[in-house]
Amino acid sequence: MQLQDLQSRCTLCPECDTNWRWAGHPGPAGHKIAVYVNKKRFPVRRTVFELHKGRPVKKGYCVVTDCADDKCMNPELLREVTKGAVVKREIKAGLILNAAHKAKLQLARRQRESKLGAEKAMAIYLEDASPSEIAAREGVSRQAVSEIKNQRTYKHIHNNPFQGLMP
Ligand SMILES: [Zn+2]
Repeated sequence: MQLQDLQSRCTLCPECDTNWRWAGHPGPAGHKIAVYVNKKRFPVRRTVFELHKGRPVKKGYCVVTDCADDKCMNPELLREVTKGAVVKREIKAGLILNAAHKAKLQLARRQRESKLGAEKAMAIYLEDASPSEIAAREGVSRQAVSEIKNQRTYKHIHNNPFQGLMP
């Protein structure tokens, strides 16, 4: 991947006046903007930083932007910070969820979970394709697919002691 490939998916950022505002798919809410190349996931901000600097992000560090627009990928305004610094920024910006909001999301997840069956969930888990491909094929949301893949839902299907005995 090259820096130009990512910039070609950006438009003018009114905040810093460069052509670096991400115009590609934003991805699911609450997740970092990412692109998929050969089934590998590349978080855009981090990738822009690494391509621009010509080195990987330091271990344990995250990449944030100093631009007022959160979708801005302008490499000149990207900065490495520790995870603790990110948490502080997010609390300040009101981006971190409080406990009540979290509980609400968990309930919604459980309700979604009851809709598919364990068998279908396992099939989705084992399917080797990008989440959007699987979502389209199985007729479920991309979010549901990644939740199954990351074992955030249907955790129980992985702990079945009889699983190996089944045909
Ligand atoms: Zn900007």
